[in-house]
Formats: sequence, structure tokens, C-alpha cells
Amino acid sequence: MDNLKIKLKNTTRNNTLDPNKIWKECLKLIKQNVSNITYNTWFLPIKPYQLDNKTLKILVPNNFFIEWIEEHYNTLINKTIHQTLGSEGKLVYIINEEEKEDLQLFDSPIIEIEKKPIETETNNFESNLSPRYTFDNFIKGEANQLARAAAIAISDNPGKTSFNPLFIYGGVGLGKTHLIQAIGNDILKKYPQKKIIYISADIFTTQFVEAIQSNTVGDFSSFYNKVDVLILDDIQFLTGREKTQDLFFHIFNNLHQSSKQIILSSDRPPKDLKGMNDRLISRFQWGLTADVQPPDFETRIAILKNKSNSLGISLSNDILDYIAYNITSNIRELEGCLIKLLANSSLNSKEIDLELVRRTVQEISTRRETNISIDSITKVVCDEFDVDENKVREKNRKKEVVLARQIAMYLSKKLTKSSLKTIGLHFGGRDHSTVIHAFNNIEKLTSEDTSLNDVVRKLRNKLELGI
Ligand code: ADP
Ligand code: MG
Repeated sequence: MDNLKIKLKNTTRNNTLDPNKIWKECLKLIKQNVSNITYNTWFLPIKPYQLDNKTLKILVPNNFFIEWIEEHYNTLINKTIHQTLGSEGKLVYIINEEEKEDLQLFDSPIIEIEKKPIETETNNFESNLSPRYTFDNFIKGEANQLARAAAIAISDNPGKTSFNPLFIYGGVGLGKTHLIQAIGNDILKKYPQKKIIYISADIFTTQFVEAIQSNTVGDFSSFYNKVDVLILDDIQFLTGREKTQDLFFHIFNNLHQSSKQIILSSDRPPKDLKGMNDRLISRFQWGLTADVQPPDFETRIAILKNKSNSLGISLSNDILDYIAYNITSNIRELEGCLIKLLANSSLNSKEIDLELVRRTVQEISTRRETNISIDSITKVVCDEFDVDENKVREKNRKKEVVLARQIAMYLSKKLTKSSLKTIGLHFGGRDHSTVIHAFNNIEKLTSEDTSLNDVVRKLRNKLELGI
């Protein structure tokens, strides 16, 4: 260690290199060589600290990280450092923690450890939460009273109430995702250091399958076992998936035993989850099970008022009443109606009057309820281009497959709330930069090629409006 310090003092510093840039480059290389879970678990939490000549210093959360990385990814790390900093490149781990005193030095040729307490800890754990879901913009009503109250109680005291797990169930578009993400966002605000992960159960399953294929199930479970709050949306996707259920069972037990908060949502109550292991169903009922029902008239009005305000449109009471009387089944449709009204009125430069409202409500109620998901987008796009759906999910590079895949990614970004990461996972585990590339490419192509633009517009109408 002393040697290293002396050596550093005597070297001329190369100020042109920025540790952030170099570490970013390293991450890029690492990402290409490990699974997403491994990357998120072991590499994403690392932060660059300093670059002294050819020595990159990085901050790791604890000693265990160093051991794990050294044991499993030693060659990769060495290669990466050599590639980015040249053959004299060195890596120094700095433990970002105050309490541990007895650190050993690693005698790896290019890696040494230095211990340095850092005053401000930062949390760069990727939670997948969308900031648009908050308690502030969640309208309370009789239909969601219990679920909302429990959600608020949990976010004051995650893992410490008897509502563990919190199991929220109800029909589509009734605010389950909104509510469980609002819990996550609120906890993050109050406890910025907590590791919160929001994930939909279908992505969880996809990740698990990927982990099996890449032999990284250990990383996968250790990632989830380390979180403070696990939010698993649409748990009904786990039905019939025995292996995923087994793994989830262990994660559940681990987290629950260490008083970590578990939040689940489902489209039906636990007992109706056919194809779900009984031991899981019984655990789902350990905490609090709360339903969300379709909103009553007053709540629908309140939601419409709130939403139209945020869209910057003001609607008369007649109009609000008309919509609230006619659209009753779910909140997503109420929102859809407002957006459609806004679009219709601005496209035709028309005031929003009762006539336009009647027509819009009519269109919405005659349209079969379509729930736009990445899967439904993939299907519609593949039908249009006559491409096999599996092909766009694989690494097929045929021209028409690539175009269909890019359009499907583009529409998934436009029409769903999924993150780039989630979208990438649906298309063969591609990373977010591939999705951004696809998005930009389609934006560009549609602006240059009117017939392609027409096709994309047609696909959008089909998906959004069922026409
Ligand atoms: P679910 O997950 O139950 O299918 P979502 O949480 O996705 O439903 O809700 C659908 C839409 O309705 C979202 O845009 C959400 O923000 C909105 N929403 C649902 N419930 C409420 C509520 N009580 N107040 C305000 N907006 C709501
Ligand atoms: Mg949902």
C-alpha cells in the first residue's frame, strides 16, 4: 500500500483523463460480457473515484464485493483495465464504508485495495420506479381506501408494520401499479439509501430464465435478496411457472425474515391464483390483502378534474359529468378519454364542447378495451410485416426482422410506460442503448419516408384506438 502511494506521488498526472469517462468505458466493455443481473448486482453499484495516471480508483460498497469480483470476474476486470488504460493500467478498490478496520490487501498484480471512508454515500441503485406515480396525484375514494391507507402506512415504516407483504389486487386500470410505485417513490424520498426495486412479474420471470441460461442464478437471487423493498407487480404472471415460484419463495422468506418490505399486486385475490404454489399463496396472506374497486362517481369526477388540470385543459361541469357517467369501468379509460379529447380538439382546432365529448366517449365505449403491452405491440407489428414473433425476440439480423423489431421497440417506448431496460429485455435481452438506437432510427426513417410513416401511424391507431 505504501509503495503504491509513493509511486503515485512521483508519477506525472495525466489530467486529460477523467475517471468517470474511463469507468464508463470499462462498464461498456463489462456489460458486453456479463448478464444484466450480474452487471446490476456487481458493477453498477461501483463508482469511479479518481484517476491518477494509469491508476483508476473505484469505490465499492464493501469487502465482499471485491472478493466476489476478484473470484468471478478477475480476468474480465484485468482485460478491461488493460484495454482502457493500456498494459500499465492499475485498478485500486476503495471501500466506501467506515466501519470495517481489518482489510486485507489483495496481491493481484494490478489490483490493490485502499480504504477510504467517504462522507456522502450515494445510492445509484436502479429502482425502475417511474416518478409520475405519487400519492399526491393518487385520488382517494371509497374504492381504494384501505389499499391507499396501507400503502401510506408502509411508506412511513417500510418492513416494520404488520402489512408485510402488502398484497393489492383488482381489475385492470384501477390504480394498482400507481399505488405500489407511489409507495416506492415515497420511501425513496424519505430514505434515499434504501434499495428499492420495482419489477413486473413477467420481467422477473424473463430475467430468471436468462439467469438460468447464462448460469448466473446465484447473482440473480443475491440481487433480490439484497433489496430493502421488493415491489413485484402483476404477480399473476408467476402462475404455472414453478421454478420461478420456487426461487421467489426463497427470496420472499429471506426478505421477510430480515424485515424487508414486500409489496405485491395481482389481478385477483390470492386464493384465486390457480397454478400458484399453496405455500406462496399462504405467505401472500401473512400481511394485508386489500382490493381496489372501480371508482365511484365522485372519485371519477375528482380524477377527471385532477387529470384535466395537469393536461392544461378546463372542462365545464356538464362535460365532466357526462364523461364520469359514461366511463365507469376503469381509470385508464378516463385518462384515455381526456387525452383523446385533447388530441381531437387540437387537431381540428375545435373547442372541447359537449358534441366532441359525446363523439369521443362513443368511440371509447364502442372500442373493445385494448390493453397495450409490449407483447400486443410485437404481435401487431409482426402481423403487419409478416414476420415470426419469435424472430424479433432473437438475435436475427435479417433486414425485415430488424425493421419489425425496431418498430416494435419504438412503439413500446411510445405507447407503454415500460423503461428502456424492460423493453430491451422483451427483445432478446438487448440493452437500453439498443432500444434508444432503434427509437432514434425509426424517428429518422419515418421523417424521411412517408410510406413507412403511414405504416407506423396505422399501427399506432390499431393499438391505441382499435381502429
Ligand atoms: P393497474 O395497474 O391497476 O392496471 P394503473 O395503476 O396502471 O392500473 O392505473 C391506470 C392509470 O390510471 C394510470 O395512469 C394511473 O395513474 C391512473 N390512476 C389509477 N388510479 C388512480 C387514482 N386513484 N387517482 C389518480 N389516477 C389514478
Ligand atoms: Mg398495472
